[in-house]
Amino acid sequence: MPKHTNTVSTHYRGRFAPSPTGPLHFGSLVSALASYLDAKQHHGTWIIRIEDVDGTRCKPLYSEQILDTLNSYQLFSDENLRIQSQHSDIYEQHLLILKQQQTVFPCNCTRQSLSQQLGNHPSICKSTPDKPHSWRLKASSTIYQCQDRIQGKLVFTDDLKNSPVLKRKDGFFSYQLAVVVDDHLQNITHLVRGADLIDTTAQQLYLYDLFDWTPPSVCHIPLITNPAGDKISKQNHAKPIQNGHLATLLRALHYLKIDLTTPTSIAEALSLAIDAWNPDKLKNIQQLPLEAEDRHFL
Ligand SMILES: [Zn+2]
Repeated sequence: MPKHTNTVSTHYRGRFAPSPTGPLHFGSLVSALASYLDAKQHHGTWIIRIEDVDGTRCKPLYSEQILDTLNSYQLFSDENLRIQSQHSDIYEQHLLILKQQQTVFPCNCTRQSLSQQLGNHPSICKSTPDKPHSWRLKASSTIYQCQDRIQGKLVFTDDLKNSPVLKRKDGFFSYQLAVVVDDHLQNITHLVRGADLIDTTAQQLYLYDLFDWTPPSVCHIPLITNPAGDKISKQNHAKPIQNGHLATLLRALHYLKIDLTTPTSIAEALSLAIDAWNPDKLKNIQQLPLEAEDRHFL
């Protein structure tokens, strides 16, 4: 008998987790495809999660539009949707664990007082806890690192000094807490997401550590940028993409270094792309500027 038997499930579970702050744009389609292709190439499970914890910015109408668009590209979730705004009680339970650990603290510092510190939270909070407050994660000097399948070794030296907010004063939970709790509860094994989220990784690794959970493998795909070098995003007024448009799908695959010339349907393109997907072709690329012929996606 071997001395060490690894009984941990290795079944691949991935997810695409859009925030419904607007319709799906071209950059999000590229991200959705990367996570889908990676999951399917590994014969894994691919889940869609709606990250709508920010009730001031997210709208149910946009969730419906995003799902319609994903479905029109035949990107269907293998399991029921998870809608974060329906799980506040679970995030509250996990915040309670951190409160008991004393790894979070209440804060009602004003934006004005923080602006004097260039937006950084000071090491000591002078809040009065009887007033409405947010909950912040205590700063840490731990240097986290991880092996990114595309970006190589990532080392986070100075990322945990700013006490991020986990629950806002208005009662909404932060993306950071919700994403870590959900990825764990949904047994997500592989994250494939845009390189703009590299900066969030250290905080997430820190939370995994505090909860004593194993973090998923990470793979940050290049961001599609506009001519000014900014991410194509809803904030930059990126246009919604057309639903179920084969030519748009082929252009999105092109940015994942998959160039298909023969498919005549979306189903056929996806099937060929699952075989052709190779994240090594994107090695160390963090940004891909939108090519001239694709400027209509802006
Ligand atoms: Zn404070």
